[in-house]
Amino acid sequence: MEYSLLHTNIEGTPCPDCKEISFEISSENLSNYFLKQEMKCPKCGTKLDWWKLLLRHFEWGIPSYLYSIVGGLRTTVMIHIKPNETFELDLVKLGIPEESKILHVGYTPNDKGLFPLEIHGNTPYRHFIPHKILLFGRPIGEPCEKTPVAVSIDWVKNPVNNEIWNNLIESVEAFSINRFQSSVIPANVAVEAKLNEIIDGYLSRYASVKRVADFLTSGATYSHQLNILLPLIASFEDFPILPNDIRGSLNELRVYRNEIAHKGMTTKPLEKSTMSTLLCSASFAMGYLKLLEEKINKNHL
Ligand SMILES: [Zn+2]
Repeated sequence: MEYSLLHTNIEGTPCPDCKEISFEISSENLSNYFLKQEMKCPKCGTKLDWWKLLLRHFEWGIPSYLYSIVGGLRTTVMIHIKPNETFELDLVKLGIPEESKILHVGYTPNDKGLFPLEIHGNTPYRHFIPHKILLFGRPIGEPCEKTPVAVSIDWVKNPVNNEIWNNLIESVEAFSINRFQSSVIPANVAVEAKLNEIIDGYLSRYASVKRVADFLTSGATYSHQLNILLPLIASFEDFPILPNDIRGSLNELRVYRNEIAHKGMTTKPLEKSTMSTLLCSASFAMGYLKLLEEKINKNHL
């Protein structure tokens, strides 16, 4: 496989004003947002609102910006294809691990001569992108001996025992193809499961595992955990409370989840702007819960 200019990165979020600097989507920047620390662009001095910065990624819908919210990496590479040639694009050879999940692949010929077509067998995959893609150089226009084609691959590491996080990735995937209703349940599952895991561990310090399990299943279910136990535990642990707007959106997400679970669909159609806010809230909440978990572990060493 002939290739050049191989590069892998996680897309940052650009300054809304000067656009000259991108900020890393890191737990440190998220932590600063929850701690209400003022953030400024070091280049132009514009005040940065981390929520507004990341919400734009959902509005733009550009795969690498969308997936960067959930830790998605983007690998770009230049391959060189001959017309009528079959080219094997082996993503593992580019350093993308076998166990990773491929989210999106894009092709941009950088010269005339051909366009790459993906070759498939007699039962093509529709919802799964393999780690090995066969491309056919379909001649277009003036013939060229070889045409450089820029390929961008969005992918995400897929560590085992990461099912909770995988739900959020699945939700973003559904969002990326405008299946907003399909993104509701996995987003809700991600936050609900992570919250339950933290509260379960927290309360198990004070009561038996069985009593805690019973309490969280029959007594304090998700809504109570989110609206009462979470702010309570955050206060006990000297950690900022989850902002009301985000908690409100999570409650809204839960209502949509219940509508789908009980009636098969939402009562009113879900607009992209609504789902952008809900999914952005879910991703902020997942980051918040991870930070809270770290704080609890530190406090109870
Ligand atoms: Zn700036």
